[in-house]
Amino acid sequence: MNPCSTTLTQLRDAIAKGEISAVQTAQAYLDRIALHDPTIHAFHETYNERTLERAQQVDDGKITGPLAGVPIAIKDNLCTTFGRTTCSSKILDNFQAPYTATAVAKLEAAGAIVLGKTNMDEFAMGSSTENSARGMTANPWDTTRVPGGSSGGSAAAVAADFAPGALGSDTGGSIRQPAALCGVVGMKPTYGRISRYGLVAFASSLDQIGPFCRSVEDAALLLDAITGHDPLDSTSLNEPVPEHYKTVRQGTPKNLRIGLAKQYMSDANDPALTKAVEQAIEVYKQAGAEIVEVDLPHTEYGIAVYYVVATAEASSNLARYDGIHYGHRTENPDDLVDLYAASRAEGFGEEVKRRIMLGTYVLCSGYYDAYYLRALKVRRLIKNDFEQAFEQCDAILCPTTTGPAFKAGDKTDDPLAMYLNDVYTVNANLSGIPGISLPAGLTDEGLPVAVQLFGSWFDEARLLQIAQVYETATSHQHHRPTMGN
Ligand code: GLN
Repeated sequence: MNPCSTTLTQLRDAIAKGEISAVQTAQAYLDRIALHDPTIHAFHETYNERTLERAQQVDDGKITGPLAGVPIAIKDNLCTTFGRTTCSSKILDNFQAPYTATAVAKLEAAGAIVLGKTNMDEFAMGSSTENSARGMTANPWDTTRVPGGSSGGSAAAVAADFAPGALGSDTGGSIRQPAALCGVVGMKPTYGRISRYGLVAFASSLDQIGPFCRSVEDAALLLDAITGHDPLDSTSLNEPVPEHYKTVRQGTPKNLRIGLAKQYMSDANDPALTKAVEQAIEVYKQAGAEIVEVDLPHTEYGIAVYYVVATAEASSNLARYDGIHYGHRTENPDDLVDLYAASRAEGFGEEVKRRIMLGTYVLCSGYYDAYYLRALKVRRLIKNDFEQAFEQCDAILCPTTTGPAFKAGDKTDDPLAMYLNDVYTVNANLSGIPGISLPAGLTDEGLPVAVQLFGSWFDEARLLQIAQVYETATSHQHHRPTMGN
């Protein structure tokens, strides 16, 4: 078997049965990365020696667990004691974290092997991975196009078969949007479902770690590995964890109600997306689901609210990069103030600076009530919309993006156009609900499109079951980009 062209679950089973060794698997992925990643640049670095060592330990029976021997790519904002954690920023160039993120530690405790760190927009701010200080990532379906962002490297790694699964973070869409543009499954769990300990903070009330993979079943398997309460993150839910994988294997939920909101259907969407959503509606009807209209009247304020709340939190979180504690420090400053100012001016990229300025502005005393406080109030209304909607349905179906992957460079001069990429994703973060993006076929040009499903708070198990109904009825997840072998 070719370990690079299976799903994560199939690979896990093949290794467990001894059909392929963990070392053969690791070597096959490392070889594929060495061959194709110079074109894609999904990874900043891979840990070849460590990967092969751990794979050998799996083969020797010293490492066991539900993910034994499965290689995983992780986003470069997840701290690891091995390698560097740079957030694709100059300010963290050469940063070596003193601890490992809980989600990553849990993955490895389940037997998985961290292959390497993936490219991202600097500090996860962006929708195309073009804001990386370390070069962009190409979309494996068309290398002149962006992979989406900010977790573009993780999405591209799974799409290019460099890893059967990856972790990313989603603050306003950064897992679901790149998953959609790269034709893979991407899930943002409920806020609080997964520990954020060791995830470099962008906007702490919105950030959530989640999986990229090739099937819904894979997402469930990864979720089981990383979920759970962590005393090191007080926002992680302290309740027994449902068994997502087992639930998904049990099959289809009965009496399904799928919600549709007119606020997510726009004539401005690419026709391929409208068609994808229509087809998904058909799939659910065929499966016996009831289709219900839900109203999410505050949807249109999502982008404005998000770019107030997220920048406010970012301006506070990024204050720690001062040139003294850690990270880049300027040479020969005139005095202490100059040291702070010059280190930050040299270390941060343009978009990060823009966000820090916006965030500082909305928090300053004269504007706090008019912007930040007001945004929090509207955020509450957006959450209320979903609370009401989920009284009428089990999941809400909508597009993930307004169109397929755009050309590199197309939106770099227009921050607002870039921000508008998130119209269909940010409200899940603002309200905390889980969302999953699923491959939904290709445009005439051969670019992936996706549909998105929202679930109610902490209802991932049912959301995954509902997603699987669509996946089983279609064959979209089997489309792969042709990149040579
Ligand atoms: N594209 C959004 C932003 O730039 C979302 C980023 C994210 O989810 N990390 O803020």
